[in-house]
Amino acid sequence: MKRWLAVLLLLLLIFSGCIEAGRTGNSPPASQREKKEAKVEGEEDKNLSPAQKWQKHWEEKRKGWSYTAGDLAVPVLMYHKVDRLPPGNKDFNPQAVVSPENFEKHLLYLKQQGYETITLTDLYAYVTRGEPLPEKPVVLTFDDGYVDFYTIVYPLLKKYDMRATLFVLTGAVDQNPNFLTWKQLEELRDYGIEIGAHTVTHPDLTAISSEEVKKELLTSKRELETRLGIKVDFFAYPTGYHNRQVVAQVQEAGFKGAVLMTPPGKVRRDHNPFLWPRIFVGDEDEKGLSRRLAVR
Ligand SMILES: [Zn+2]
Repeated sequence: MKRWLAVLLLLLLIFSGCIEAGRTGNSPPASQREKKEAKVEGEEDKNLSPAQKWQKHWEEKRKGWSYTAGDLAVPVLMYHKVDRLPPGNKDFNPQAVVSPENFEKHLLYLKQQGYETITLTDLYAYVTRGEPLPEKPVVLTFDDGYVDFYTIVYPLLKKYDMRATLFVLTGAVDQNPNFLTWKQLEELRDYGIEIGAHTVTHPDLTAISSEEVKKELLTSKRELETRLGIKVDFFAYPTGYHNRQVVAQVQEAGFKGAVLMTPPGKVRRDHNPFLWPRIFVGDEDEKGLSRRLAVR
């Protein structure tokens, strides 16, 4: 009985290996060696939690990265909502909403062009310590923490084997059906979504007192860290508004870096990590995205 089960399990593993190979266009089918590795991995994975399995998955991918020359210009794409606008919409800026169809075209295009998603943590390790990146890295960032990140973006990221960075507005979590819940955030964390802070209430940080700025920064960072048991190293300025004082305060609050909204540009090693540019992507197909990616 036990042996029969073992054979069945092995067949299933080989079969899923073939599907995997077929799906990524890696034909001819996986070699004997790869099948053997898959089996060993399967046995080890039995005792791992979903979070540990995903962590292992991303670590395996990272082992394949080898680009260490200092000349990379890394696109950090900026999204907000990926959804259909509700009829008579008054709540959302249509400019910041990308349809699920166009978003999937973006992911497919990135995959076909050989891009590999990395996190801001990976990017930081490259610019500060020269750690390797893939040859065509891209960071996908999403601001505010809308619920469609869980219902639409996350399933598509899984489908294309990609990761992303999510800047969460902590005051909206569990408070409003348009935004994520802590439970959803836990699942996203387990998958390997990188979580960054985006303040508590989304104020213009250049228009409030430095005491209030400090409170917005520290409260959002600490709440994410405490609730999710993670380290929150990156920040997105609400609406991109910042000045010298705000940038200094973000640094003092213990962040390693922060992202802007405008002007569009790619991140290079000599950039100040607290002023990393991003590339806005609108509701356009892959041709639109490829034009955006042409920025310096
Ligand atoms: Zn925002």
